[in-house]
Amino acid sequence: MNNKGITAFAIAMCAAATPQLHSADKQQRTSIEAAPLASVEVNDAFWAPKLQLWSTTTANDVLNKFEGLHIKDNNPDARHNTLDNFRSVAKGDRNTHNHVNLPWFDGLIYESIRGIADLLAQYPDDALKARVDNIVDLIAAAQATEPSGFINTYTQLEENDHRWGENGGLLRWMHDVYNAGMLIEAGVHYYNATGETKLLEVATKMANLMYDYMGPAPKRNLIPAHSGPEEALVKLYRVYSSDPALAKKIDAPVNADNYLSLAEFWIDQRGHHCGLPNWGGWGNDNAERWIKDNKYADTSLYGDHSRPTFGPYAQDSIPLAEQQTIEGHAVRATLYLTGVAAAAKEDGRKDYTESAARLWDNMVGRRMYVTGGVGAISFDEKFGDDYFLPSDAYLETCAAVGSGFFSGNMHQITGDAKYMDEYERVLYNGVLTGISLTGDNYTYQNPLNSTSHARWEWHGCPCCPPMFLKFMGAMPGNIYSHKGNEIFVNLYTGSKATLTAGSTEVELAQTTSYPFKGDVKLEVNPAKKSKFTLKLRIPGWARSEENPFGLYTSTVSSPVSVSVNGKKVNATLADGYAVIERKWKKGDVVTLELPMKPRFVTADPNVKDLEGQVAIAYGPMVYCLESVDNSSLEDLSIDTSSSLLLSVNMPELDNAPAISGIAVNPKGESLPFRAIPYYLLGNRTKGSPYKVWMPARR
Ligand SMILES: [Zn+2]
Repeated sequence: MNNKGITAFAIAMCAAATPQLHSADKQQRTSIEAAPLASVEVNDAFWAPKLQLWSTTTANDVLNKFEGLHIKDNNPDARHNTLDNFRSVAKGDRNTHNHVNLPWFDGLIYESIRGIADLLAQYPDDALKARVDNIVDLIAAAQATEPSGFINTYTQLEENDHRWGENGGLLRWMHDVYNAGMLIEAGVHYYNATGETKLLEVATKMANLMYDYMGPAPKRNLIPAHSGPEEALVKLYRVYSSDPALAKKIDAPVNADNYLSLAEFWIDQRGHHCGLPNWGGWGNDNAERWIKDNKYADTSLYGDHSRPTFGPYAQDSIPLAEQQTIEGHAVRATLYLTGVAAAAKEDGRKDYTESAARLWDNMVGRRMYVTGGVGAISFDEKFGDDYFLPSDAYLETCAAVGSGFFSGNMHQITGDAKYMDEYERVLYNGVLTGISLTGDNYTYQNPLNSTSHARWEWHGCPCCPPMFLKFMGAMPGNIYSHKGNEIFVNLYTGSKATLTAGSTEVELAQTTSYPFKGDVKLEVNPAKKSKFTLKLRIPGWARSEENPFGLYTSTVSSPVSVSVNGKKVNATLADGYAVIERKWKKGDVVTLELPMKPRFVTADPNVKDLEGQVAIAYGPMVYCLESVDNSSLEDLSIDTSSSLLLSVNMPELDNAPAISGIAVNPKGESLPFRAIPYYLLGNRTKGSPYKVWMPARR
């Protein structure tokens, strides 16, 4: 999220293009629907206590800290109350120069509301809901002081004449469109969770304002400088188009198609700009100066539908169809493609699906860490080149969340389990490490090896805690999904859910010790005896396919076993799913045994930084060695000829199993080591060294 600068890149695009809206090149709609959150109940020993903790402790902790309360860290900037910005705007203040915190804090409040809304759908909490309702009232009061519906407290309080980054503003800094997008998704999620329309109405007014102002000429050529609003508008389209009666409850015009159109405009208009500034050649300061001097508004030079470029930093150097590699700010890139996949699900555009799939392949096959983390380079928080994966890299929690959302949406438009494999990878590693076991300390960067990494109580740019809440709040909806006559079991999590297969309502009850053990029992209870297809994801790691492109390699020797009512079945494996098609009846029981054994993981030889290195994994979890368990960690190598053993469950660390094995010190002496799941690092000591990747010794 930090806006410290923009990467080097020369731009050659000179003409703004009018996009092809609602392309005729449509595919038949074949999307998969996630289970509605309210229809899923997580009841296992791993996720249920965490979701409960996050829906109480973490939700309130995040709101407290945004209000400047209970912050012990010696960071005076973090003590401001972000809600004061809304109070000030609600009083009618404009250009009063009293905005506190960074310009995108409105968006962070909205993101928190979205995450909390999803948690409230699963864990109703009157006090928490009342707290959010008060914030919603404040947001609505602030908007009510603007007849147009515009709301961005930074812009209103600091540079009210520069709305949308025009007339000498800098959208990349001001975040007007980004914040609006986060408002829209908060409105949709809060409506879905509570049935209440107040925030949705605020959001709809803002969406209408943007639709009226931005788009093909003669409207303004404006796109989000930070992605996220693309998917938000698709969600707004979805909520209205799936329930036409909803619009009658909103005191504003509603046109669902407009919202999808604007999302498509924002997607298609990437790479169509005036070609300047040249961020890399001029340097950030000069480039920003050029935008603030409003030089791109010279219609004699650039036409009357022009705008500055945000460069590859914001996926804006070339059009989507020409983008061959995932580039730029990792949060922006992953959220942009999350939006592309979301739009493809609704409008069926094949070009969106193809581009998103191509860039996902590049991300997962060449630019993703074994934890699912992305964004190797701290400058501009961006992707590095192919195979640039140093162990001490940046890896923002928000980027891990973005990659998980991207994978989840890709699954919905393709049905391929490889996308859920990578969703699961980042879920258990890159994202889950973003919070302490106490639920009130967080991470921003998530290097795989570090000598000083520590969780923090709060941050000057606390973008990651709201993104964490968004991801985890939505997670239970991804355990199961369905399409037509098929039910997908994507995640192994003890839970109950109700879905439909064809026209039959099916209750599912899953019991499992996953991720600590590989046993899964699934009771299938259709309302009536009926034929449908059950698809059980067989994780890549369980099939000796650690990564679909060979970026990481591992081997498990035991087979996967699937049984129905106690009898083994030879289920067909298709797109990573064991497919069981049969006439199901009440009380049918499917059992799945996944080969959970500790394993070594190595990287593609093209990854020079990981040459001769090895990591340890167990099921979906990547492990690490912490110095608190392993003295002289820096000097140790792993004896990969020795066996990895599951050892005691650690009561102080989530009751997770430790893994032990043999390490070798510089004297050649063998000694035991202990590894713990990566998500648990830093819970016993602050800032002590740890390593995922260790030198291998045979
Ligand atoms: Zn972040």
